[in-house]
Amino acid sequence: MRDESLEFFKAIVDAPSPSGFEQPAARVFRDYTSKFADEVVTDVHGNTWAALNPKAEARVMLAGHMDEIGFQVAHITDDGLIYFMGIGGHDSMVPLGQRVWIHGRERVPGVISRKPVHLLENSEKDKRPELHDLWIDIGAKNKEEAEAVVSIGDPVTYQWEFQHLMGDRVCARGFDNKMGAFVVAEALRLVAEKGAPEGVGVFAVATVQEEVGLRGAKTSAYAIGAQSGLAVDVDFAIDVPGLAKTRYGVADMGKGPTVTRGSNINPVVFETLMTVAKEDGINVQVAAWPGGTGTDANAMQLNQSGMATGLVGVPIRYMHTPCELLELRDVEDCARLMAGYCLRVRPDTDFTPR
Ligand SMILES: [Zn+2]
Repeated sequence: MRDESLEFFKAIVDAPSPSGFEQPAARVFRDYTSKFADEVVTDVHGNTWAALNPKAEARVMLAGHMDEIGFQVAHITDDGLIYFMGIGGHDSMVPLGQRVWIHGRERVPGVISRKPVHLLENSEKDKRPELHDLWIDIGAKNKEEAEAVVSIGDPVTYQWEFQHLMGDRVCARGFDNKMGAFVVAEALRLVAEKGAPEGVGVFAVATVQEEVGLRGAKTSAYAIGAQSGLAVDVDFAIDVPGLAKTRYGVADMGKGPTVTRGSNINPVVFETLMTVAKEDGINVQVAAWPGGTGTDANAMQLNQSGMATGLVGVPIRYMHTPCELLELRDVEDCARLMAGYCLRVRPDTDFTPR
């Protein structure tokens, strides 16, 4: 990966952006894309897009959500302990013992805790804690001390940042889906290098609030009004113990982006993506999904009278934990695949399934 791209990837992943609090990631996205986009826009919902040929009537929308899961301060006790709610879907096994940042007036470190294992009742040992059984301790001695730095509603993220593992593999919190926001920006950069097709506008959108109901894809799809679009999100790597290929299909890390096929996907868009993969020499893994997906592609397809929608993904392990793991080459190939799609769209491309 180019040094400049890698720096952007690290910066957007490390920027705290729980759903509803995406501004830090949006700032990173704007800074990077303004170097090559014709126009960069943030709407009232917080969606941020960079566009080539923004005035063209034929339009392609690329969407990668820039929100991540996190927590939110809900209550501060008289003893200065902080109770919290989850933003997005959490495995409640994960938070216990983790260090967090509370993003309030200043960035405050804390730890997620409960009583020690020695003092758990037998009935408590057998059962997983719920998020509301846990608290954040910032070291405050009482409510007044805590309230000096923390307010109700402040967003919270884990203290995990981008880290290189062996080879081309990296881990971080929030690859879901700052990876996607990175990929749409990179795809736009690749299209800009070659020049967008005449009469076709390309919009790379870092959407907000996907983890709480695909909410930013809905408003940004309406604003842009594209005839076709691609969403990119993390996909489940099946190459770990306990996941049967007979049940979940095949999606291995390092073997290329996934391309989904099913009712959420327009057949012309799917076939175009497969042509790009073949002609541009990109390995892809086809994934089946019979209904609406849980991704921005779902909201996009149902925009206005319908958008011809495709869905691509990068296989990752340990989704929705602070140590999501992926392979950089898959991310780069995903950006090439999306760019290849944009370069093949023409003002008269017919997306009607026939
Ligand atoms: Zn997610």
